[in-house]
Amino acid sequence: MPEKMRAMILSKLGPVESKPLKLTQIDRHEITKPNEILIKIEACGVCHSQLHSIEGDWEDIGLPPTLPTVPGHEVVGKIVEIGNDVTKFKVDERVGITPLLGSCLNCQYCNEGKEYLCENMDVTGESLRGGYTEYITVEEEFATKVPDTMRSEYAAPLFCAGITAYKAVKAAEPKKNKKIAIFGIGGVGHMAIQFAKVEGCDVSGVSRKEKHLDVAKKLGADNIFVYSSNQDQFLENVKKEYGLFDAAIVFAPVDEVTDTAIKSIKKGGTVVIATVGKIPNFLAFEEKTVRGTLIGSRKDMEDVIKISGEHKLEVVTESFPLEQANEVLLKLKNSEIDARAVLIP
Ligand SMILES: [Zn+2]
Ligand SMILES: [Zn+2]
Repeated sequence: MPEKMRAMILSKLGPVESKPLKLTQIDRHEITKPNEILIKIEACGVCHSQLHSIEGDWEDIGLPPTLPTVPGHEVVGKIVEIGNDVTKFKVDERVGITPLLGSCLNCQYCNEGKEYLCENMDVTGESLRGGYTEYITVEEEFATKVPDTMRSEYAAPLFCAGITAYKAVKAAEPKKNKKIAIFGIGGVGHMAIQFAKVEGCDVSGVSRKEKHLDVAKKLGADNIFVYSSNQDQFLENVKKEYGLFDAAIVFAPVDEVTDTAIKSIKKGGTVVIATVGKIPNFLAFEEKTVRGTLIGSRKDMEDVIKISGEHKLEVVTESFPLEQANEVLLKLKNSEIDARAVLIP
């Protein structure tokens, strides 16, 4: 095995137009604990939240916690070495890693199966252990097996976009014929539409972009609505064409969209917010519920792999070589990626 690896390193936060990621040879990760596995990365999805982190938008919430980093937190690859105590996996099996690279496994959250809320969690791609490179190590508890039938480019986006979408849909308490609206049809939204359809919901896709609404339609959305910054006009249109929604899920990181989503649901309805943002208006007397959601647990990840395989969910991806990470992030920023870009080392 080589002693060095190619990595797209982030040493200084900045706009992606300035190409903040630099191709660098760094020491290859090595197994340092007996319960770790070493993975040769085959694909890494390019997530919108990573874009915010790289550009410095999320410094106030502590991301990234350190520099330099190797970004990338939707990682799939093949196990090339295992530690002495590893029992869950064998060499040559393929696995994936979510943004949850590790947690204490000993606190209240970890014991309740909400390890993604652990105060001592490690985030994939917010240290030198990230996906925009060739190798990564992880404790076996935080890797999930990828079945042989799933290509790595397909599976990688499931490890953040997929699990985020799945958990957000679950938070909206889906049931048959429930009217659920998905605000923002990108890497995450296009998966949410499919998870909500699996639950039998009546799904509406909402986006500014016709191109994204076409994707929504193709993936089974029952209705599509063009988002408009003219809130009154948008709400009028929804009411006239369809009626208010029972629940809405917001993936677009814009406060104005959250505000519109809250107003677009019936009294007593639920809005799930799966992004960083504020709640501009909230009227208690409408008995609405606003709920936050963040990635998901290790159990959720297993469910995502199972459901995606069984229902043959579509993951819309475009592949690019690792070295083009800056260019791909710029495309993502300019909404030129239909759903999910994947980097191949
Ligand atoms: Zn992500
Ligand atoms: Zn914990």
